[in-house]
Amino acid sequence: MSTNAHVILVKRPGVNGVPTEDNFGFEECPYPPDPDPGEILIKTLYLSVDPALRCRMNEDTGVHYLSPWEIGKELGGFGGVGQVIKSADPEFTQGDIVESQYGWPWVGYFKRRQNEQNPLRKVDKSLLGGNLTLPLTVLGMIGLTSYLGVKEKGGIKPDCNQTMVVSGAAGACGSIAGQLGRLEGCTRVVGICGSDTKCKFLTEELGFDAAINYKTENVKERLSALCPDGVDVYFDNVGGEISNTVINQMNKDSNVILCGQIAVYNKDVPYPPPIPESIESRLKEQNISRTRFLVLNYVEKFEESMKELAELVLSGKLKVRETTMEGLENTGKAFVSMMNGGNIGKQLVHVADP
Ligand code: NDP
Repeated sequence: MSTNAHVILVKRPGVNGVPTEDNFGFEECPYPPDPDPGEILIKTLYLSVDPALRCRMNEDTGVHYLSPWEIGKELGGFGGVGQVIKSADPEFTQGDIVESQYGWPWVGYFKRRQNEQNPLRKVDKSLLGGNLTLPLTVLGMIGLTSYLGVKEKGGIKPDCNQTMVVSGAAGACGSIAGQLGRLEGCTRVVGICGSDTKCKFLTEELGFDAAINYKTENVKERLSALCPDGVDVYFDNVGGEISNTVINQMNKDSNVILCGQIAVYNKDVPYPPPIPESIESRLKEQNISRTRFLVLNYVEKFEESMKELAELVLSGKLKVRETTMEGLENTGKAFVSMMNGGNIGKQLVHVADP
């Protein structure tokens, strides 16, 4: 008999509270019985931890498409990769690698029936070159968010000498979005992030023209020095003061890609959070577009976008980085670390090998 364990929520961080490791617990739980017809038994291999899960720690998530986590109950994240251990569904065979972008439980083993809400997709191992985590990074929701955000809201035109700024630039979405901005035609790409190591990663490994450490540098001064012709495209992952500073340096008819606002995720404010009146006025005066971007609103474009992302990765034009924490028991720790900037690229948890 195999053993099983899962991650639970022990207590909420509280309104405006910062999540800490002791919000999470880890305990043994029953190993699932053999699958009934139509079901498969899955072993979790990798888990994704994502900023948007922060709102599930509150009693009220503030968004209609996410429900709150319950105290003492097993937690459900977004993406995961696993292996079929037993199958009573003719679509799947023992040993298959599967992934899903939504509703993957933070547990070692679980049973699942194929369904429309959280569909399981078989992973073609040969296509991934043995890299089983790609569906949780560039060939999944992260890649799609960056790609569709840039394409749909960026207003990038080749040969127009545009300057792009990315906040949260060394994270999962930011690191891909900046590279895509360049591939789409921006002549200058500047990242904003929280450490010198991250700045170096952006300029030396990903080909950003420059990077600003917002924790140690004057963002306003550095931005105006680095973007002498103003900012045309802003991929915004963070919101707050950093974004106000960028918007104040944006050109007429420029575009904000409103991807996320992590700087306020610990605060009890609606999403997207209110912005100062002076920034509202600037957006209007300069005709800067800033409308909410939600990747789930573009499902019909996923398949085509995924093909293009796969080509870019296989041809070496798009680089992908991840930060991996070991062990299911450390999933809460990985989440807290990511919220505090501990990751470069996508934060993952390695639970088991196939
Ligand atoms: P990241 O990999 O970027 O990880 C989060 C990063 O945010 C940290 O590494 C940290 O980096 C930075 N950060 C944390 N707190 C602050 C702060 N107060 N100010 C500035 N930076 C901060 O996460 P993802 O790439 O998964 O997500 C990025 C954003 O995209 C999030 O806002 C997320 O909600 C959003 N998102 C939106 C989607 C959509 O459909 N619109 C879909 C998926 C994600 P640092 O060291 O630089 O501070």
